[in-house]
Amino acid sequence: MMKADVDWGNLGFGYVKTDERYVSEYKDGKWDEGRLTGDSEIVMSECACVLQYAQTCFEGLKAYTTEDGRIVCFRPDMNAQRMIDTCERLKMPIFSKERFVDAVVQVVRANAKWVPPYGTGASLYLRPFMFGKNPVIGVKPANDFEFRIFATPVGPYFKGGVKPLKLRISDLDRAAPHGTGHVKAGLNYAMSLYNIVDAHEQGYDENLYLDSATHTYVEETGGANIIFITKDNKVVTPKSSTILPSITRRSLLEVASKYLGLETEEREISVDEIKDFAEAGLCGTAAVISPVGCIVNHGEEIYLPSGMTEMGPVTKKLYDTLRGIQMGTIEAPEGWIQEIC
Ligand SMILES: *Cc1c(COP(=O)(O)O)cnc(C)c1O
Repeated sequence: MMKADVDWGNLGFGYVKTDERYVSEYKDGKWDEGRLTGDSEIVMSECACVLQYAQTCFEGLKAYTTEDGRIVCFRPDMNAQRMIDTCERLKMPIFSKERFVDAVVQVVRANAKWVPPYGTGASLYLRPFMFGKNPVIGVKPANDFEFRIFATPVGPYFKGGVKPLKLRISDLDRAAPHGTGHVKAGLNYAMSLYNIVDAHEQGYDENLYLDSATHTYVEETGGANIIFITKDNKVVTPKSSTILPSITRRSLLEVASKYLGLETEEREISVDEIKDFAEAGLCGTAAVISPVGCIVNHGEEIYLPSGMTEMGPVTKKLYDTLRGIQMGTIEAPEGWIQEIC
């Protein structure tokens, strides 16, 4: 197949318009049959619910080329289920798991020339999203919705080598108890923008949020879950009802116990415990794991023993194993790899 004329190794993480996207419209209480379109523009009322009251949610996953040349996706059924959970919380209509996965397959097939070749480290990022479209001025959910998936090629996350991150413990909060922290709503990101710009201006890579009720326990960053490795090689991750359930993090915990024979724990992790850990990493679709080298708690710099130049050894093993499963060099658990073509 002819590939698009792209310098795969030098791609960043930005929007590149590709050929086809999937659209389905919800009207009169039901979804239409859906279609692919070349039109990347959306026209809607100035009073659309999404524009006034932010009724919108999204997902993120990747398609990539395996070592033996197949194009695949990683666990799209999990993204489908998470979007269902999000839609329930935001009073948006359910787009079924079967249709979600079918739409993913259609979009990737239609944009196969944009799927980076094996070995480039690049991938085709897929962005499913849904929004309330009809005019709404009194506060209530929309009646008409649109579900879309577009695709954009993204470069290797660790371009120019791994660089452990420096996080700061945030004074601002991400998610209220009984709020929307556990669902992938656009609004969770809108309210994080001020804080991420401020963190960057102060020389930090990310904000590490604490539980907003007590500011005692570690939760996650603005867009990634966190895992810690104890000095006796246990994989520990925060347990909280206000964390977004990362598919990468849940997969890594399975990899840790089933492939690497490591003990795993999901439990409350207090800020005071950070200094006792050996390694830390952020997990999400974008990087799988980005190592954390330093966490700053109001002027107190806590350096993880794994340092500021490389991934910790256990983090690296987790990373290599999950990447191997995704790239087809290590056998995947049943159902983790969705064949596209
Ligand atoms: C999307 C997201 C993640 C990562 O989830 P993955 O399914 O692993 O990509 C983590 N935290 C937040 C807040 C997110 O929005």
